[in-house]
Amino acid sequence: MLQSKKNITRWLLIIGLAIAIFVFHFQEHLLAAWNNPESLKPFISKRIHNVIDLLDFNWKHLFTDFFIVVAALTIEILWVGWENCSLKKLLHFNNKSLKMDLFFFVLAVTNSFKFLSVVLTFGIGYLAFGIVSVDSMQMNLGAYISWPWLQFIVVSLYSELISYWIHRFAHSVKWWWMVHRFHHSAEEMGTITYYRVHFIENALNQFFKVIPFIVFGMPLESYLIYYIITELHNLLIHSEIKSDWGWFGRYVLISPMAHRIHHSADAAHYNYNFSNFLTVWDRLMGTFKENAVVEKIGLDENPYNQKGLFSDLWTTYKDLIGAVFEKK
Ligand SMILES: [Zn+2]
Ligand SMILES: [Zn+2]
Repeated sequence: MLQSKKNITRWLLIIGLAIAIFVFHFQEHLLAAWNNPESLKPFISKRIHNVIDLLDFNWKHLFTDFFIVVAALTIEILWVGWENCSLKKLLHFNNKSLKMDLFFFVLAVTNSFKFLSVVLTFGIGYLAFGIVSVDSMQMNLGAYISWPWLQFIVVSLYSELISYWIHRFAHSVKWWWMVHRFHHSAEEMGTITYYRVHFIENALNQFFKVIPFIVFGMPLESYLIYYIITELHNLLIHSEIKSDWGWFGRYVLISPMAHRIHHSADAAHYNYNFSNFLTVWDRLMGTFKENAVVEKIGLDENPYNQKGLFSDLWTTYKDLIGAVFEKK
């Protein structure tokens, strides 16, 4: 307990230092905006215009996501066989938890999720895209790394560190947990459970996950490789594979078993395996857990998967507002 408190203090100091560097680097722009708010007008109007563009149906996006899902489902079938795979369960279409996953999967591949996330969270997540698309906001540290693979490794490690802390805070901060527990309300793990993320959580994630773009500039090729690998991996760790992947799952990538432990309803398994990709950060922070028997997936007391889709979506808003205004 004491150790984890020490860890949190250490990391809060590092995050504080990162914010200080950021403010120092952009002091001119921040001061200009402070002194002359008018200078923000073109920036804001461009953002509003771009939100409308989000309505466009994007074939390229559909194809990439669809290809990744097909690849993940195929690997799963080859691994566990047709009888045990998530696709078979999905085709039966009799499970409320998986129906919700399917709804979010359809939203994601048709690009509607992005648009709904902007509208249903009043643009919070989209603001981040706006910030990153401004040239003067780029620190472009990636330009100092000439070897593309090294650049990929550095960007991945850095992105993973941010994802680790976003996920850890999502479990420890009450209001954030009210949003994140929508993902944990899945009572069955299936490959596309990965897509079960509430609009508010998606907006929050986007807000923090643009940080690597600001810091490194992240060339498109590096990002595309990282995106395809992590999306495929994220689908596999939610699948029926249930393997711990041996040494590979212990020291390299988070295994389906490790993520299953993260989704366990057993209190003894809470607060482990926050990373969704590399094991390194969980190992360094002492939150890695392997080989536990997971009997039940989901929440201890689960208000979800009972009254239908709209009720479930609303429950997250209601619980979030409740947590924000809760008397201490
Ligand atoms: Zn979680
Ligand atoms: Zn998950």
